[in-house]
Amino acid sequence: MPYAHALCSMPYALCVRTLIVADVHANLAAFEAVIAQAEAMGAIDAIWCLGDLVGYGAEPGECIALLRSYPHRAIAGNHDLVACGVMGTEDFNRPAAMAAEWTLQRLTEDEQAFLRALPLTLVEADFTLVHGSLRDPVWDYLISDRIAETHLEQQPTPYCLVGHSHLPLVFYEGGRHGFVQEGLRLRLGAERFVANPGGLGQPRDGDPRAAYAVLDLDARELTFHRAAYDIEATQAKIRDAGLPPILADRLSQGR
Ligand code: ZN
Repeated sequence: MPYAHALCSMPYALCVRTLIVADVHANLAAFEAVIAQAEAMGAIDAIWCLGDLVGYGAEPGECIALLRSYPHRAIAGNHDLVACGVMGTEDFNRPAAMAAEWTLQRLTEDEQAFLRALPLTLVEADFTLVHGSLRDPVWDYLISDRIAETHLEQQPTPYCLVGHSHLPLVFYEGGRHGFVQEGLRLRLGAERFVANPGGLGQPRDGDPRAAYAVLDLDARELTFHRAAYDIEATQAKIRDAGLPPILADRLSQGR
């Protein structure tokens, strides 16, 4: 059964350009900048969200609404599960726990129901989507060859997209791997891989610009991009909301 668009009846298989986002973390300005930049390169037919749409940032409801305004596929991240009450904050550090509780209090019942309904993994055409890894969809950081190898053994599709580490990375079956540079074009060929587009709303690779990827099924390639956004205004919103200041400070460092 082809998945039908939320906003039209076009079968999912007819989607050509899909925006790939991970770890938006309630950073609306970054999310809007990414969509605008991606749309300027060509129309976006859908968005795939790899978890942690909310948490840390000051505009969780706005980010949920923006994702839902596009045809989309989404899976749950650890912050999403805490922000809708499915999980407690006991495994979070203090700033993360404070932000999660702040988010839980602000989301409407409808927004929480949206998060609660997110699956932990999804298979869409040739892609598996999961926040952590197939070893542990919620918590695993897919950042080493050893972890990638075990994950790839369980990967049911040729390609997989993950989030959680906030680092743009690719691991191929057989051990080849590397940090992804801006502008990289990954061909969808015979080689199986798992890739992370990087953190959109809170990058951790030292580059403060929002990270994302675009999947083009016509060109059979996945491309990696960065978008500048108004970091200072976003930091002011976080501080004004009474969220832990470290969550604002780290945005300008990309750490
Ligand atoms: Zn995250």
